[in-house]
Amino acid sequence: MLRGVSDDVTQALGAEQQRFEAALKEVGDADALYELQVQYIGKKGSVSKLRGQMGKLAPEERKAFGMAFNEVKKAIEAALEERKEAILGAAREADLGRVEDLTMVDTLSAVGSIHPITRTRRELSRVFRKLGFDVVDGPHVEHELYNFDKLNIPADHPARDMQDTFFVDGQSTKNDSNLVLRTHTSPVQIRTMLGREPPIRIVAMGTVFRKDDDATHSPMFHQIEGLCIDKGVTMADLKATLYRFVSAFFGSDLKVRLRPSFFPFVEPGAEFDMECPFCPTNEAGEKLPSCSVCKGSCWIELGGAGMVHPKVLQACDVDPQEYTGWAFGFGIDRMATLLHGVPDLRLLFDGDVRFLEQFPC
Ligand SMILES: [Zn+2]
Repeated sequence: MLRGVSDDVTQALGAEQQRFEAALKEVGDADALYELQVQYIGKKGSVSKLRGQMGKLAPEERKAFGMAFNEVKKAIEAALEERKEAILGAAREADLGRVEDLTMVDTLSAVGSIHPITRTRRELSRVFRKLGFDVVDGPHVEHELYNFDKLNIPADHPARDMQDTFFVDGQSTKNDSNLVLRTHTSPVQIRTMLGREPPIRIVAMGTVFRKDDDATHSPMFHQIEGLCIDKGVTMADLKATLYRFVSAFFGSDLKVRLRPSFFPFVEPGAEFDMECPFCPTNEAGEKLPSCSVCKGSCWIELGGAGMVHPKVLQACDVDPQEYTGWAFGFGIDRMATLLHGVPDLRLLFDGDVRFLEQFPC
């Protein structure tokens, strides 16, 4: 007996079913499963195409093939559905089984802190602003004319040697003098006097540079200077201002004393000390001589001061017959070490995080 069309088509149907079942075993995820569904029972799928063969069958064979076709299609659909459930179930299972490590420490970025020098500068600004001073700054690279000449420090003056200056390549536009890294904040006083009419009350703060580098000196350090120019200003005003300042800064009533000294830009000149705020006291409030900060002297040297030299006033177009003025200066770094009890100045510039962390915001 010859094999009819019906046999061929039915056999092909069975073969497709077997191929599908084998392919299904290889499927691992929902995307591959969908691919398989399209490949077999999609519009142009291999099984769907066989349905188109029905027209070639004898009418009495069509019913049997139709039933066989529907059975195979249903079986494929059921197998696809079953596998789909299994895949989704496994995914859910994996999701639920995921273990979150609740003890894990989040990696928050570290919060920095304000450097003791910056903190001291801000505190100095706050106190001097309260006393009626403007806080000003100037360039780090300065004309030699402003750094030395106008401050009554002539070219051959030993102060220029004393201050071991860093000279900078290039020519100053002022008087064809050299450019230097400023050795003190005093040129800011010059710039202020040249740019403003008296009365003047300013403090200049910032970084200064000298070629010193040893245990007690850094080539980069910080200074603050005050300048007051007005009619009838005297040294009594200077001492009163210094007294107001140290008392406000250290938060207690501290005496100030002046000792005669020499600086080329003042006349008369003085060094000033403040009463030590760190001396331990006995029950009666009397200071004990065992203080490690002042070494038992009860005084701490702070800086230099004096009446602005008439030649400096003249160099800045201020008439010394009409105006007088005073100025003072001291080291901010030393102030910071005193304020925070830092034993060694160099710790401030080492950049050691373990040191800086001790000054949280
Ligand atoms: Zn003391």
